[in-house]
Amino acid sequence: MSARRIDFWESKSLAEMSQAEWESLCDGCGKCCLHKLIDDDTEALHYTDVACQLLDVECAQCSDYPNRQKSVPACTQLTVDDVEEFDWLPVSCSYRLVAAGLPLPEWHPLITGDRMSTKDSGNSVAGRCISESIFEGELQDRVIRWVD
Ligand code: SF4
Repeated sequence: MSARRIDFWESKSLAEMSQAEWESLCDGCGKCCLHKLIDDDTEALHYTDVACQLLDVECAQCSDYPNRQKSVPACTQLTVDDVEEFDWLPVSCSYRLVAAGLPLPEWHPLITGDRMSTKDSGNSVAGRCISESIFEGELQDRVIRWVD
């Protein structure tokens, strides 16, 4: 009889993960780095395809991850203390999934062993957004629905 290995994201809660495990849980989709709008009437959250100035829009990676909060003070550093507020994250976000006791998607790099699998499966914003550093216009005109 064969036994399947139980991986850390299945056996540990977010609070039990090491820093390295926590960091590796991120699928690198870049969706959380997009500007969002909140509807005044319904309080519904809408994603736009306009990205933070630090996001490399071709690969969806932060161009200055270690220092990001110095240049972008509004950048949210996810911590386990904020689990109750994870509903602003896209539904595919690994932290949101694990917090809800749900499995990681089959395209997640921890499942595939390939850091490119998020992009290759169409689940990354790479090449699908514009940097706020060159964007001109109204965010309201850039609402998207494909981030989930
Ligand atoms: S949405 Fe979640 S999984 Fe995707 S880049 Fe942001 S923190 Fe990582």
